[in-house]
Amino acid sequence: MRTLVLNPDASGIGQAAECICQDGLVAFPTETVYGLGANALSASAVARVFEIKGRPRFDPTIVHVAHPETVNTLWKSIPPLAEKLLDLFWPGPLTLVLPKHKTVPDIVTAGLPTVAVRMPSHPVALRLIEASGRPIAAPSANKFGRSSPTHHDHVLSDLDGQVDVILAAGPSAVGIESTVLSLAEDPPRLLRPGGTALEVLREIVPDLRVDSPVGPSSSPGTLPRHYLPRTPLFLLEEETPSGRGAYIDRRRCGMLAFARQWQAFGRVEVLSETGDLRQAAARFFASLRVLDAAELSAIVAEPVPEEGLGLAIADRLRRASSGRARLAGDRIWMIR
Ligand code: AMP
Ligand code: MG
Repeated sequence: MRTLVLNPDASGIGQAAECICQDGLVAFPTETVYGLGANALSASAVARVFEIKGRPRFDPTIVHVAHPETVNTLWKSIPPLAEKLLDLFWPGPLTLVLPKHKTVPDIVTAGLPTVAVRMPSHPVALRLIEASGRPIAAPSANKFGRSSPTHHDHVLSDLDGQVDVILAAGPSAVGIESTVLSLAEDPPRLLRPGGTALEVLREIVPDLRVDSPVGPSSSPGTLPRHYLPRTPLFLLEEETPSGRGAYIDRRRCGMLAFARQWQAFGRVEVLSETGDLRQAAARFFASLRVLDAAELSAIVAEPVPEEGLGLAIADRLRRASSGRARLAGDRIWMIR
């Protein structure tokens, strides 16, 4: 199969929308990451998304809308808190989970009685959803378990020949997936930290429940290991982690640094020279891909402050890691 790579102009978006209407698959930009989109109301179109991604059927997908009013056709009812949150945060990187209408196919929600909905702010995503006239179900446009794509080049390298259309719109501005919040429970619960900072949400939802760290029990599909690079990744710690390990030469390691420029590594990717967590989030997945492609023996990641978007980065780092590490002169001590 040939994948059409289109410019996100009126004609490209028109063709992509046509493809969605015919139950085809379109990879499209959002401000968080690129999505692999299908008509959310077509079970067979969504089934192809799961197939192509290799995504397990127990992992529900997010439904994307172009207008807040569309939630009326997806959720059974809209509580006042949902009303308030979507007024304040949509369009943007906040996904809300509420009991679903029966029109939403079970495959979209992995059989759950709830559906996750978000209105993205990327103009191309909005135009595509609008032009196709249907809500679009979309997980990230990568193979299951791998890093999320924050550029159309990432989508091409993962899914060329498998997806019908890719709308090529360059880098994603936020760069990390949306925050997922369940309003189907009382008190509301954080299911996944993401592009909307927890501190900001707490101002509106003071009794918000957060399991720490936000783990596999919190949300279906949020597996403890995810975003796995091919090169094993180790989280740098100050204390020597306990357990059996091995030394490895620094030169054979890549460093995923937060703000510091590290010396004597095989390759260093700095997430933000100024220590800005937004910039770090925007660069995170692309930097991980660069290090993963550099043919190193291991990647070492420096911890990021767990505040603002740092919480989402730290969550992805934990899920991407195979173990922990500590500096030992010109070598690294690593424990799986
Ligand atoms: P992705 O589409 O890869 O960004 O992942 C979407 C994530 O949102 C899933 O892995 C779940 O953790 C969460 N999610 C989606 N739908 C639901 C739902 N109905 N109930 C709870 N969590 C959901
Ligand atoms: Mg994903």
